[in-house]
Amino acid sequence: MQQIKCKRCEKIIDTQRRRGRVVFCGRACRTAWFFERSAPYVKKRKERNELRHVTATRSVLIVALNLLERGWEVYLPFDRVASDLVGFKDSRAVKFEVRTGRKNPDGAWNWPTRIGDEGKTYAVVALDHGNEVLYEPSIE
Ligand SMILES: [Zn+2]
Repeated sequence: MQQIKCKRCEKIIDTQRRRGRVVFCGRACRTAWFFERSAPYVKKRKERNELRHVTATRSVLIVALNLLERGWEVYLPFDRVASDLVGFKDSRAVKFEVRTGRKNPDGAWNWPTRIGDEGKTYAVVALDHGNEVLYEPSIE
């Protein structure tokens, strides 16, 4: 049996049933850790005086502009559940699912995915990185 510190409160815990994984002393610390991790982003959004749905709309507009600048025709669907934007270029149609994500210091991107995203192209906006957009899979 091995002893390890809780990732959040540093309380000593034994790891006999969860060796090798990220560990917390309990559910409360786990929940608090994820809440605290998102706090800076919530704070930044509040500083921009921005509601969550405004963030989403802002990302859609950033992607639309990014696609237009790349020479795409861009359309807004009536049904935003189906996809956020539709683009046409070189006789090709693409359904875009726009997500607000993060670009980590190591260059890796993170964004939320959902069931039902299959077959769509993600257009991920990293607000903290000069409105940079990542297309996954690539649209080039
Ligand atoms: Zn803890």
